[in-house]
Amino acid sequence: METIKTRCLIIGSGPAGYTAAIYTSRANIGPLVIEGYQPGGQLTITTDVENFPGYPEGVSGPQLMDDLRAQAVRFGADIRSDYVSEVDFSSRPFIARTEKLEILADSVIICTGASAKYLGLDDEKKYNGLGVSACATCDGFFYRGKKVAVVGGGDTACEEALYLSNLASEVYLIVRKDHLRASKVMQHRVLDKENIHVLFNTNTVGLYGAEFVEGAHLVEHVGTDNERRYDLPIDGFFLAIGHKPNTEVFGEFITLDHTGYIKVEGAGTATNIHGVFAAGDVADPTYRQAVTAAGMGCKAALDVERFLSEQA
Ligand code: NDP
Repeated sequence: METIKTRCLIIGSGPAGYTAAIYTSRANIGPLVIEGYQPGGQLTITTDVENFPGYPEGVSGPQLMDDLRAQAVRFGADIRSDYVSEVDFSSRPFIARTEKLEILADSVIICTGASAKYLGLDDEKKYNGLGVSACATCDGFFYRGKKVAVVGGGDTACEEALYLSNLASEVYLIVRKDHLRASKVMQHRVLDKENIHVLFNTNTVGLYGAEFVEGAHLVEHVGTDNERRYDLPIDGFFLAIGHKPNTEVFGEFITLDHTGYIKVEGAGTATNIHGVFAAGDVADPTYRQAVTAAGMGCKAALDVERFLSEQA
């Protein structure tokens, strides 16, 4: 196994990781980026990104990630296609291991992101990008005047349904229980909105459509005497059943909040371990946008710069 030393290890490669790499490279810190299994992160599975500043005509998710990556490489970031499977943050230098490398790092920025949860239906994969989405803010615009469904009963689902209700003609909120889990204020907003129809006690068992989604197979009151199966014609199917921050590797050392996100100090990026920082969706349960992740990656790089100069 090869051992390498770096002044800054960046784990993960979405907008947060690449932006941290751009800033630390330009500050002559010489970062090492371990890209992970899905280089570019969640944006590589979206289609057009129209809300990232600087692209008046929009840009595809993969292209945006390629651009950010190229910008980091231009300033000398060492970016490797590998996956950190183990860390030891108990003393400095911090240690991270991949299949091929042992990395000794003076500082670390964790940018491993979060993954949207899916129901686990084969049809979700079949129609991914063809009517199935896990981000209304990213893809809602494509459903102007159309019919969409949102799955979930929490604050995210309500927020996504409300967002979509200003674009789509009809929004169906598919809730598996007989009540919403969302906060009262969100519940009222959803229930008051004329074009949002809440389908309680309903599960999705499949999707159909020639090329794009044309509808969902639903079951109401599953497993009871009142069970009813029917098809709901829709053009878009949005998952909003929660996100899972990718923190498994760090759990032993890094303090997480009650929902599993990395806790950072105030508006900064410092974790509970001095010299380890976190940026992007892994530490942001609230905004989860490419541009906010990029902003947080910038903050983490500046925090690293300050930390390393204090150590010098
Ligand atoms: P939650 O975990 O709060 O809610 C997930 C929802 O998805 C629940 O209604 C749950 O149903 C449903 N669900 C989970 N798995 C399935 C499944 N397999 N099939 C069908 N439905 C399923 O996640 P959120 O992302 O909504 O929220 C996460 C946290 O972020 C919360 O603390 C929330 O308050 C917060 N948040 C706050 C916002 C705000 O204040 N503006 C905005 C967005 C999030 P069930 O209820 O039956 O378990």
